[in-house]
Amino acid sequence: MSMKEDNFADWYLDIVEKAGLSDKRYPIKGMNVWTPYGWKIMRQIDTYIREEFDATEHDEVCFPLMIPEDQFAKEKDHIKGFDEEVYWVTHAGLNELDVRLVVRPTSETAMYPMFSLWIRSHQDLPLKTYQIVNTFRYETKQTRPFIRVREIHFFESHTCHVSEEDAQDQIEEDIQILERIAKKICLPYTLLIRTEWDKFPGAHYTVGIDTSMPNGRTLQMGSIHHYRTNFSIPYEITYEDENGEHKHVHQTTFGMSERLVGALIGVHGDDQGLVMPPGIAPFQVVIIPILSKKNTEQVAEAAKSLARILADAGIRVKLDDRDARPGSKYYDWEIKGVPLRLEIGARDMENGVVAFARRDNGEKGSISAEDVVPGVRMILDDISESMLARAQEVQRSRIQDIDSLEDIPQDKILRFGWCGCPECGHKFEDTYDFKILGTPYHPEKFEGKCIICGKPVDKPAYAAHTM
Ligand code: ZN
Repeated sequence: MSMKEDNFADWYLDIVEKAGLSDKRYPIKGMNVWTPYGWKIMRQIDTYIREEFDATEHDEVCFPLMIPEDQFAKEKDHIKGFDEEVYWVTHAGLNELDVRLVVRPTSETAMYPMFSLWIRSHQDLPLKTYQIVNTFRYETKQTRPFIRVREIHFFESHTCHVSEEDAQDQIEEDIQILERIAKKICLPYTLLIRTEWDKFPGAHYTVGIDTSMPNGRTLQMGSIHHYRTNFSIPYEITYEDENGEHKHVHQTTFGMSERLVGALIGVHGDDQGLVMPPGIAPFQVVIIPILSKKNTEQVAEAAKSLARILADAGIRVKLDDRDARPGSKYYDWEIKGVPLRLEIGARDMENGVVAFARRDNGEKGSISAEDVVPGVRMILDDISESMLARAQEVQRSRIQDIDSLEDIPQDKILRFGWCGCPECGHKFEDTYDFKILGTPYHPEKFEGKCIICGKPVDKPAYAAHTM
């Protein structure tokens, strides 16, 4: 295994392969195969996202993969932002199509013609939908599993509201949902309002959700957009209000992708492999029977019954009863990052205990066999808390205030004064090869000067090298 500190890029690819997350040998570059363990992780995340959005009264839908060109082109900024990176279907069988089809890069232009049919009156609002599907982008930069791919496993919510304020309330709800999801995956993040030139094509504003990777670059894990009526006007999504007046709906979207998997690999993994957050680990506990010649049967039985007790309590557990040495089993499950390993042998049985080893910090000990369920739950909770705290600490340490352009640290997230004007912004980005991630969504106390023009400013901007 490559070392994480020395060469992040190689280390990352090594983990993806050795933990069995994805196979990039499929003969289309950037369209990778989800192999069983990787797909199990993604499914855990999807399941949790579904729970969250169902609980907040969003309805799951599933729209067609293809979008006719004329629908795709209705919102001018949107098409300008996307036409170079979409896949086109030009033929059906031997016939050239009159109207070419776009393979969805995102679903605004698939959904909104239908929303205009579905929404009639204010009683149809809010309309809150989401879907979990694959999207496609013709990525020309170097691809990397989960982080930059051409077929992207994607979550997207789309909502319609009577007013700009209601749409704004939706964004607040999205942020609360994000907070819960990020906690589950133990991922710290920043919420930054993107610059005008970096916002989603067609959006009124975009909030980028970024996390910091071990190579000092940031990874955008998702985004939330307020569209106002930018799409509802061209797509004619209107409702009749209480006074019989016809008005355009205000819209929002929230998107996250398989980059969440890329983020959790990068943020939590170490030189022994993955470290899975208990909240979304496919297996939270692995049980390894320590067999000796004389007590083989009793120990095997005890391990089975322990697995049953934990499974019945709703803990995701794997019993590794393969015919292999415990040492090689430890190694395999460490690579896969299973949060908690339990071992049971003849002596443990005599003493009424089960031995444990934590994947996150290597701590070892034993828990009473009688109280194994609450004992395991307590350790898993503690693992979650300490993984999040550690990741937050690392993220905090990567943010650095700068007030001069001399010797800018290259591996930090920079925080500095920016007057907000595009000239200063572009000058900063072009001269120093950093990307401005934006200004804080939640206001931060700040007094300083624009790092380019020197004008006094009262809110900071953030910039970083990005993945
Ligand atoms: Zn300025």
